[in-house]
Amino acid sequence: MPAAALSPQVLAKYEPVIGLEVHVQLLTATKAFCGCANHFGSAPNSNVCPVCLGLPGALPVLNAQAVEFAALASLAINCQVREWSIFARKNYFYPDLPKGYQISQFDKPIAEHGWIDVPTADGSMSGVPGDRSSSSGCKRIGITRLHMEEDAGKSIHDGFAESATRTYLDLNRCGTPLAEIVSEPDMRTPDEAFEYLTRLKEILLYCGVSDCNMEEGSLRCDANVSVRPRGQEKFGTKVEVKNVNSFRFVRLALEYEIERQIEVIEAGGRVTQESRLWNAAEGRTFSMRSKEQAHDYRYFPEPDLPPLVLTREYIEGKRAELPELPEARRARMIAEYELSAQDAATLTAERAFADRFEAGAKTARNPRRVANVLLSEVGGRLKALGLEQAQSPVSMVGIVQAADLLDEGKISSRQLKQLFDVCFEKGEEFAVAYEREKPEQISDVSAIEKLIDEVIATNPKQVEQYRAGKKTMAGFFVGQVMKASKGQANPALLNELVTKKLEGKSHGD
Ligand code: ADP
Ligand code: ZN
Ligand code: MG
Repeated sequence: MPAAALSPQVLAKYEPVIGLEVHVQLLTATKAFCGCANHFGSAPNSNVCPVCLGLPGALPVLNAQAVEFAALASLAINCQVREWSIFARKNYFYPDLPKGYQISQFDKPIAEHGWIDVPTADGSMSGVPGDRSSSSGCKRIGITRLHMEEDAGKSIHDGFAESATRTYLDLNRCGTPLAEIVSEPDMRTPDEAFEYLTRLKEILLYCGVSDCNMEEGSLRCDANVSVRPRGQEKFGTKVEVKNVNSFRFVRLALEYEIERQIEVIEAGGRVTQESRLWNAAEGRTFSMRSKEQAHDYRYFPEPDLPPLVLTREYIEGKRAELPELPEARRARMIAEYELSAQDAATLTAERAFADRFEAGAKTARNPRRVANVLLSEVGGRLKALGLEQAQSPVSMVGIVQAADLLDEGKISSRQLKQLFDVCFEKGEEFAVAYEREKPEQISDVSAIEKLIDEVIATNPKQVEQYRAGKKTMAGFFVGQVMKASKGQANPALLNELVTKKLEGKSHGD
């Protein structure tokens, strides 16, 4: 944290302004402009050729799959895809950039003018300038552009910063295809930035254009942030925090940076426009280079590549290929399966998981129950054991079977829990455990009625409350009788009998 902690009153005088630049590695088989494998983790400098090494005379050829992925991603984030875009050279010297320039796009990127909606903390629209209209509970974050570019190689230092003694160069990443997605300065809190990144990643994963693996650098974020006195329209001077490698760190780096900038201004100083780096170990940002040292990239159109021309038909064809996106899927699943928003969010976080759930839910008596069993019984146990979904001993078929038995009242929820305990203990499928254990169920009316009578006799206050109109009290009696039956009472029958007893009727009325 900055030297002196600022009071909430001082912090509240300022409004942060945040814009994010996100680089994503496209999941193509080969590189952007040559036939070398686009593969993470190969032996250093094994996936290189004259084109990606920038040897004299080598000519780039654009990878059609990279264009498809860039177009898909653009459409998924509501951008307009240009029918005519231009590749440009971005010139600078760096040891891991043997060509001396990156092929990128400059003033005519493949796509512009997009947006994504992010949920707001209080579920309301904030009235800051720059906000665009959007559905309620959400804030619409503008996306300035998505452009295509090639990545540079990697420098590997065998020490940290000044203490590095050697630097190794791995040029396998040279020429691999990237999409850079630049947001408008529309975010106002680190939480909004976190949400934006989460949504963006989800969308890109749904489209299958990138694995978005942050550990491998497939998704990287530069966070731009400034502060201004609340009410002031003009933006403050921004600082760019480069290459933060997790969303949590983006949030922390922004929180740190906002306080640092406010402190500078409160002390009568000025924020310097500069690039900074996040040091996770120390929990602070530090200066990398100031604006004076900033690059002049001398962009000019790439002479070795013609303009990229995409027809209307091509663009509309890509739009038709888009999968149902997470936000739409959540809304549909909430309506179709009567799920809570929270459950829908969990179920749709990954496309394959949502697909598996839906395949199961469609065959079940009650999809909502399938969601409950999947999330609380299976999800809870997996989480406790630190396992992935794929490692669950119980398959979706087993989950549906369990949910159906529960729904039909053939097992109680307590018995279901016990069966799942067995499944996870023995690594067994649900059907196996169920067939062997065949949990006993009391379906004898008089036996259950006897238990109910006992519970009613010992809880006169609750009976009074029920009869005075508090119908939800029935749940209390069901719970007590279930407990008394050691979880073996037939739940459907129990429900029915409890209501009848409380209403003063007998079975069969
Ligand atoms: P630069 O020319 O320095 O690259 P850009 O205008 O291209 O700056 O913006 C880069 C990123 O910084 C964008 O995501 C944009 O939304 C964001 N940004 C621009 N100005 C500000 C500002 N004053 N405060 C915070 N973010 C900003
Ligand atoms: Zn190559
Ligand atoms: Mg810029």
